Amino acid sequence: MAHLTHFTPPQAFAHQRLTRAIGNALGEGERVPCIEDPTAWDELTSAWFCIRCPVLTSCSAYADTGAVEHGILAGRRMTPLPRPARGRSRAA
Ligand code: SF4
Repeated sequence: MAHLTHFTPPQAFAHQRLTRAIGNALGEGERVPCIEDPTAWDELTSAWFCIRCPVLTSCSAYADTGAVEHGILAGRRMTPLPRPARGRSRAA
């Protein structure tokens, strides 16, 4: 997976929450599938494993921030989020 090189504050916060959740899960003896065998990670297997992952909620929240533009996260294939068109006002 490819993370952005600079996180926005919400992305950094979501990443921190996910990292903490993974640490807690591993500390409690739970399995985080993508950490155990990243080489066996593909779109089909991730969907099956992620739904059972103890940190899926935090992982999905991190995925929603758009911080990862490529690869598979929270059972989803990540793609860059659409960016606002230049020269257009955000207020409609
Ligand atoms: S939900 Fe996230 S942390 Fe859990 S296995 Fe899937 S990609 Fe890994």
